[in-house]
Amino acid sequence: MKDKKIARIEQLKREKGVVILAHYYCRPEVQEVADFLGDSLALSVKARDIDAKVILFAGVHFMGETAKVLSPEKKVLIPNPEATCSLAESCKAEALAQMKAKYPNALVVAYVNTTVGVKALTDICCTSSNALQVVESIPQDREILFVPDKNLGSYIQKVTGRQNMILWDGACHVHEKFSKEGILELKKSHPEAKVVVHPECRGEVAELADYCGSTAGILTYCGESKCDTFIVVTEPGILAEMEKRYPQKKFIPAPSIEGKSCNECEYMKMITLDSIIACLENESPTIELDEQIRQEASRSIEAMVKVG
Ligand code: SF4
Repeated sequence: MKDKKIARIEQLKREKGVVILAHYYCRPEVQEVADFLGDSLALSVKARDIDAKVILFAGVHFMGETAKVLSPEKKVLIPNPEATCSLAESCKAEALAQMKAKYPNALVVAYVNTTVGVKALTDICCTSSNALQVVESIPQDREILFVPDKNLGSYIQKVTGRQNMILWDGACHVHEKFSKEGILELKKSHPEAKVVVHPECRGEVAELADYCGSTAGILTYCGESKCDTFIVVTEPGILAEMEKRYPQKKFIPAPSIEGKSCNECEYMKMITLDSIIACLENESPTIELDEQIRQEASRSIEAMVKVG
């Protein structure tokens, strides 16, 4: 059945000239039908650069929006518009506008896991790979309003020692729920394992990390490390790519505070082979953006790209 669905998707892709981009947190079978895999910003840049009129973005809503911001001339299909993100939803544009009025001199730095409306109110975006560089590019005496991830924000604050950062009270419900005790237990049975952590995790979990960084950074670290066992403290969808790239190494998903052996993002898992087939057949739903908001959001992303 799975193979039939995959064959149907391949046929529709060929007939309609669609390129599929999928995030590492998607289901393994969704990753299988992707032309490109990556984290959200890398995929949006890929969407901009590839020669295709129609992109299908297998990921949550803000990722499709970011692709459309960077590629306004392309049609961006999203298999399930209900697949949102708890982190992006924790910061609404209206609430950010009110916060900006309270701190008129602060520069707004927004993680890319935000809606297009929030990006339009942002001075400079950042990713988990370049958040440190972005914050360090801002003069020391300039106040920063960092949205929406308080965990990433406090991690950057800790690394830079910067005091004048106001942190938005938002978090990813997946990364917040990794258990420090559960990871320490796993370390007892795998003392040789390196712990790799995404900076969206809570501080007490990030402190256990041998490496703390973005999904792309974690993948690179695991490949370059001499170690062959890793406790992976991020969404376990990444394990499919880890096992494909480094089949000789062992990857153990970290448990959640609820006692689950891993901690999945239910929004990412809403993208299924069936929803992709329906989306390709109907060439809908698509991402549509107000042009002025798109241009303003694009400016904050370009400001980030200039930093590197
Ligand atoms: S894992 Fe967290 S940040 Fe990523 S899409 Fe899911 S809710 Fe959003």
